[in-house]
Amino acid sequence: MRTLLADHPLVTHKLTLLRSADTDSATFRRLTDELVTLLAYEATRDIRVEQVSVTTPVGVATGASLADPKPLIVPVLRAGIGMLDGMTRLLPSASVGFVGMVRDEESLVAATYANRLPTDLAGREVFVLDPMLATGGTLVTVISMLLDRGASAVTAICLLAAPEGLTKIDEAFPGDEVRIVTGAVDDRLNHKGYIVPGLGDAGDRLFGEV
Ligand code: URA
Repeated sequence: MRTLLADHPLVTHKLTLLRSADTDSATFRRLTDELVTLLAYEATRDIRVEQVSVTTPVGVATGASLADPKPLIVPVLRAGIGMLDGMTRLLPSASVGFVGMVRDEESLVAATYANRLPTDLAGREVFVLDPMLATGGTLVTVISMLLDRGASAVTAICLLAAPEGLTKIDEAFPGDEVRIVTGAVDDRLNHKGYIVPGLGDAGDRLFGEV
């Protein structure tokens, strides 16, 4: 696994606002959207493109166009939905798959309750959206599903990560095909599996408690 800590000052500035317990849901959603765009910019640095030429009013320029097959974006329900608009704005030609994972609050083990993914991902680059990389259990399951379907590279974009989760992903996927892009690596997990200092429950803060 490769890790990119995108600690650009604007990312840290927006993350700081996001972390605050005083930030309301509407502001939290807006900041999440803005952060995804910044993190996605870093996450797509090596995205596959092909050379094309374009006729300008004064000549012909060599440019680039996203290569086929187009990338797949996979938000992990529920909280990953809060990151989807920011990502599709940057990659409007990508398709979108969905995985729903719910964590048992006692065992902290994540179970899959929804799966809408193409069965064949041969040669596809996949961008997984999950705001919080905590224990890593959810991401190990989702990344395995994608690699089993033939994805050539999987990049998970997470607003925050815990060292425990990063270690777990690295142990599960020691190769180069998996990459984590995150805005910060926090101190640790608490006994409930929350990132400390973190920002609380990302799903609740985006969409309210259910
Ligand atoms: N999921 C969250 O929403 N927050 C955490 O701190 C950990 C997992």
